[in-house]
Amino acid sequence: MTGRPAAAQDQGEPAPEHDEEHNLRRFATIWGRAIYSVTATSMTRVEFEAHLVPQARVLRETLRARPFDPRPAVAVGAALVDAHCTDPEALPSILGVIDAYLVLYCPPPADVPADEARIRCSRLQHAVAVGFSQALRERTLSEQESISRAALGAQAEAERALADSEAKLRAVFEGAAVGIGIADMDGNVLEINDAAARMFGGEAHIRRRNVSDWVHPENEPAIRGLNGELVRGERDGYHVEKAYPRADGTVLWANLQVSLLRDTEGRPQYQLALLEDITERRGLLQRLRHQATHDALTGLPNRALFFERLDQALDPDGPTSRIGLCYLDLDGFKTVNDSLGHAVGDRLLVAVAERLRACLTSDDQLVARIGGDEFVALYTDPPGQEAVTDLATRILDALAAPIALDDRDLRVHGSIGIVYGPAGSRGAADVLRSADITMYRAKEHGGNRYEVADPDSDARAITRHGLTNRLPEALERGEFFVEYQPLIGLEDGAVLGAEALVRWGHPVHGVLGPDQFIPLAESTGQIVPLGRWVLEQAARQAREWQLDHPGGSCAPRVNVNLSPIQLHHRDLVAEIAGVLEETGLPPGALCLEVTESALIGADEDALKPLRRIADLGVAIALDDFGTGYSNLSSLRWLPVSVLKLDRAFTRGMRRHPADPVDLKIVEGIVSLAHSLDLTVTVEGVETRTQAEHLRALGCDHGQGWYYARPGPPEHLHHLSLADAG
Ligand code: C2E
Ligand code: CA
Ligand code: CA
Repeated sequence: MTGRPAAAQDQGEPAPEHDEEHNLRRFATIWGRAIYSVTATSMTRVEFEAHLVPQARVLRETLRARPFDPRPAVAVGAALVDAHCTDPEALPSILGVIDAYLVLYCPPPADVPADEARIRCSRLQHAVAVGFSQALRERTLSEQESISRAALGAQAEAERALADSEAKLRAVFEGAAVGIGIADMDGNVLEINDAAARMFGGEAHIRRRNVSDWVHPENEPAIRGLNGELVRGERDGYHVEKAYPRADGTVLWANLQVSLLRDTEGRPQYQLALLEDITERRGLLQRLRHQATHDALTGLPNRALFFERLDQALDPDGPTSRIGLCYLDLDGFKTVNDSLGHAVGDRLLVAVAERLRACLTSDDQLVARIGGDEFVALYTDPPGQEAVTDLATRILDALAAPIALDDRDLRVHGSIGIVYGPAGSRGAADVLRSADITMYRAKEHGGNRYEVADPDSDARAITRHGLTNRLPEALERGEFFVEYQPLIGLEDGAVLGAEALVRWGHPVHGVLGPDQFIPLAESTGQIVPLGRWVLEQAARQAREWQLDHPGGSCAPRVNVNLSPIQLHHRDLVAEIAGVLEETGLPPGALCLEVTESALIGADEDALKPLRRIADLGVAIALDDFGTGYSNLSSLRWLPVSVLKLDRAFTRGMRRHPADPVDLKIVEGIVSLAHSLDLTVTVEGVETRTQAEHLRALGCDHGQGWYYARPGPPEHLHHLSLADAG
């Protein structure tokens, strides 16, 4: 016995949701302890920790969201400024705790790999820091404005009580935490307060200087323009971030607010500058941005930055008109990693990254590491396809020379898939997918070469490669999902049930239809676990529909496709019985669809499992009827109660007048089926004309785009409601 006693489980173990909540609170507590001392809040420590719980929750949900989007974390940064975490020390502490504890206490879903989780966490931190800095800037701005209002007010009073107002101004001036400087209209600095002197690294460095001495290439000439307008009296102030040289040669970054002080006649008299030192915050933000967008091992841009650039380049409204992409996968890297160890593998990747970097010849080329041994080079607006293949050749050449690590000479090669084409017509995922497929083609041709993508070979390659290997883990990772397509009663248009159709939400290739992977799954035997999973999903879903329809009889039923391979699996009957029992779905609410080719000609042994399933009360439908060599008379021996006519028959009924031969055939099949007590369902009903013909011919049920495309289970609910009302 490995299980613990039931009593202990009942009393001691918190339910998983409790664990989740508990861990979230622990994170908030740790977070609160780390930053409480650097806040100016009036809350108690406990209140402050409680205050952080909703912020922690936002971080957790953002970390876990699919697709990942760090933007909600910006609001967390702003909320912390609102909670008075405005001390210069606060931001590093805030981020330090997120960095060290967030993934630990609020882990992302199990299928997010560790390095992806790390990238997400860095991007979250960057977003928090951006929100924090923006909020702080706004707050400083409003403080600066109230100081300059005080100064202006003091000046207005000058006529009435000159001495008094000067004292007031001086008090503001000396005591302020922000740097303050006053200059005349020629830009000569007349006065500075202590805070400003400290920022510049000594009073001597700024006194008796001219503001034009401090031009900095990063923010000229925009500032010169603004200052010119101010001096001419055309504007009363401006606000910028500006760099200044410090006494010791380093750079001071300041949040600068300049206001114009006028004399009693309204003529410009002085310039009042308020400065906040943002050097550290800016540096931190830049470091975070770098961390969030670069690969820690090789220092190359990471997947996130690559996708950001690719999205920009593909933007139909953007300036880029063509792109070239080289997708590189190292040949045999896994062997090196497995035989020589991860440390050697890592050093090899670093060396490869260096060589790749050296292949870039201009600023419009970017090389990124997007996976273990996968790299991409993105070329925006290449002069032509040849420029992109040249880049690929340079990359292959760069890898040709052996890489010396310790006393070993390691040889690596790569296979490259190239995509070249206009921007604006496809999305990033689509482009990457075709590069990936093309890369596999290069591998297939022996590796150490490139291939250029073309749509035809894409389509052929996708079914053969990559997919097969990734299928088992895809099931574990939850990449499959089921869509439902309604089955409609032709007589009254009622929703009678739905067919469950499986899809694969592939992380690289996008959503794949069953035709792209079911044959593969069948050839590898994976169809057995996959089919079982679909059956479980569909049965659970149908049970939910039943519970939503307390009346029972009109609750939608569910059709599930069964592959011939599953039919030969010896546990099939037991599994189906088990699923019905577990979900509580009555057997009559389930129909299994089996293709005609799997049944026609099968001997009695092969049909046994199907008979036993039918004995359970489950309906069996003969799918794609009319596509095989049907022996209509054998229908009477099969344990089948529904005939699904293939789309081929409905095609001839799309137009008026309908193809008379098709009409005759369907009429014949329907009358035969009815005489054998079979229900007839017709697939591929795309138009109203078809639906009307089929009803006139006596078909019972229809399925097709005319009624609904396959979709999420909720759609069915809307349909039945619409139908009821
Ligand atoms: P099927 O059983 O013949 O399923 C009907 C197919 O026709 C579905 O394609 C559906 O999307 C499509 N369809 C529905 N209405 C229309 C229409 O009005 N016009 C046209 N042109 N097509 C329509 P889908 O989803 O691509 O499925 C393809 C096949 O994959 C299915 O054919 C089925 O044989 C197989 N399949 C789907 N899910 C499973 C599964 O869970 N297990 C197994 N073994 N096979 C599955
Ligand atoms: Ca089917
Ligand atoms: Ca079918």
